[in-house]
Amino acid sequence: MQTFLRSKLPDVGTTIFTVMSRRARELKALNLGQGFPDYDIDPRLTELVAAAMTQGHNQYAPMEGLGPLRERIAAKLAMSYGLTVDAESQITVTVGATEAIYSAVQAVVGVGDEAIAFDPAYDSYEPAVRLAGGRCIRVPLMPPGFRYDWDRVRAAISERTRLVLFNSPHNPACTAAAAEDLNVLAEAIRDRDILVLSDEVYEHVVYDGRTHASVLTHPELAGKSFAVFSFGKTMHATGLRIGYCVAPPVLTRELRKVHQFNTFSIAHPLQHAIAAYLAEKPDSWRGLSAFFQAKRDRLRAALAGSGFLLPPAQGTYFQLLDFSEFFPPDDVGFAERLLTEAGVATIPLSPFYATPPSLPVVRLCIAKRDATLDEAAARLNAFAARL
Ligand code: PMP
Ligand code: GLN
Repeated sequence: MQTFLRSKLPDVGTTIFTVMSRRARELKALNLGQGFPDYDIDPRLTELVAAAMTQGHNQYAPMEGLGPLRERIAAKLAMSYGLTVDAESQITVTVGATEAIYSAVQAVVGVGDEAIAFDPAYDSYEPAVRLAGGRCIRVPLMPPGFRYDWDRVRAAISERTRLVLFNSPHNPACTAAAAEDLNVLAEAIRDRDILVLSDEVYEHVVYDGRTHASVLTHPELAGKSFAVFSFGKTMHATGLRIGYCVAPPVLTRELRKVHQFNTFSIAHPLQHAIAAYLAEKPDSWRGLSAFFQAKRDRLRAALAGSGFLLPPAQGTYFQLLDFSEFFPPDDVGFAERLLTEAGVATIPLSPFYATPPSLPVVRLCIAKRDATLDEAAARLNAFAARL
């Protein structure tokens, strides 16, 4: 059929998260696919949102984000990392981390440029680079354990490289980068015109006593990185769609040039509510690692006798499930069987890859009520027993 449309993303469909959530609703399956909590948010946050609208904060917010919210974010960065960040010139409020990623990429990647992303990587990175006219060079994370092969990263860097898209804690690998990884990254891009986009949305979800290694605390990387965060994760409310980007003033200026024409300004009453919430509970995020670690451990214990293997999870909202004992390494096929036969929606890993290997792994979201996790484990155990 002749058409006047030339798609800019001809190979891209609807994301696996949206597809799986839709199918889980249709089939009334338990949804351990898309990463969102199924429990209530803090009722105080709900009250503060209602209060912000009642108080009349219903018109455009400042383009860069509400001043008091950015001050609270700066205070949070001081509390969590001991950082001094200038709210005026270094913090921009965005529509979730997704907009921060997209706007930062558009700001610094141009036609013919290259950006390095890992394989697997969160699904929004590569389309953002391609829409900017750039090309993603994917460097595989090596099994087992999805380790960085820094020699391959170095080999992937060229004169055209403008950006490295880094993510820790990592979705979907569930790994947390060590401070040493940041040192090696810094060394790999030293003396080159290469910037870093560091996706740190799971900064507060690291397990077993780990501390999150933020680029903002790295002496070299802090000066050349966009660090991206999300209140969706920190406040158990992915529907808020409020995130932020922290970057040096020179990068923040470029980011805002895009941001002002992309989303312009972010939901004003929600920014007021989050600022007020952070004023009342400035360190509510401190308990997140313990909260999610208990959920990880609960799910792992409930699946311990299933025959599924459970790769280590060092952080994030997720736990991987390795089904190599039961089924050929076809993650999409296995996720489909879990959905239709076990009534559990999961996320196959291949959509996170540019070049998917044969994968015996699906991803489970642990940000769920204990009862949901228990029921999901019971269904997975029963399914495994039938295989
Ligand atoms: N990066 C990663 C690694 C994510 O997992 C997600 C979503 N959970 C995002 C970015 C997007 O975050 P947001 O919902 O704040 O847009
Ligand atoms: N980040 C969420 C996940 O990894 C999904 C967000 C989305 O649907 N775009 O599951």
